[in-house]
Amino acid sequence: MSGLWDSHLHTPLCGHAAGSPAEFAKAAQERGLSGLVFTEHAPMPGWFDPGSRMRPGDLPRYLAWVGEAKGILRVGIGLEMDYHPGTDRPVAQLAGAASWDYLIGSVHHIGAWGLDDPQWKEEFGQRDLEELDQAYYQVVIAAARSGLFDAVGHLDLPKKFGQHYPASKAALAALDAIAAAGLALDYNTAGLRKPAKEVYPGRVLLQEAIAREIPLVLGSDAHRPAEVGWAFPEAAAEVEQLGGRLVHFLGRQPVEVGERP
Ligand code: ZN
Ligand code: FE
Ligand code: FE
Ligand code: ZN
Repeated sequence: MSGLWDSHLHTPLCGHAAGSPAEFAKAAQERGLSGLVFTEHAPMPGWFDPGSRMRPGDLPRYLAWVGEAKGILRVGIGLEMDYHPGTDRPVAQLAGAASWDYLIGSVHHIGAWGLDDPQWKEEFGQRDLEELDQAYYQVVIAAARSGLFDAVGHLDLPKKFGQHYPASKAALAALDAIAAAGLALDYNTAGLRKPAKEVYPGRVLLQEAIAREIPLVLGSDAHRPAEVGWAFPEAAAEVEQLGGRLVHFLGRQPVEVGERP
């Protein structure tokens, strides 16, 4: 796995993860990874899903704590930011508040519903799944066009609990918007640990992304050290076999796998 970076990682500051950044780095080193980029759930305005993220006052602690992992292997620091209509301004302020390496824009909510929260998964049974798919990708398209992010997180997240969608027109329109905006895509192996049992995005959307020359950023979305680099040999082989381009981000610029910045 030499040359591979894991660029989607959380820390206990979000309240639902375990293990210090140094422990994540040791696990990565044992698995032969070359680097890590931490992407903790970013603070949002106080009214927005406050239980799932670090608090604004935790930012200095986050920067310092991730810094402790730098003696172990190469480490970058970023954020997984929520894209939600009406929050562009605070997200832009936070994006400018530190010299981040990588900013992921993720959609975890449709309106007030946290669609990937296991607590609220029954809601899938209350919705028209096609409308849900369209509503989700409309927000993803707005995220891609916002100019705030380097990559879109876990593209086909609505499949998390095992409800699989075809590569819908809405999903393809989102890929078009991502390509037009020059963004990368989080190639996120957490889906393999969920009922979806496949990477985000799945194979058809992966092929469609590669056809649009969208670069892919490998991420485990690890919330504990045991998940670092999850299924990376298989995931990297899949991208390579399909002719995709793997990158990671440092200083908000893409770096090719194997390249030394
Ligand atoms: Zn999380
Ligand atoms: Fe996420
Ligand atoms: Fe995440
Ligand atoms: Zn995530």
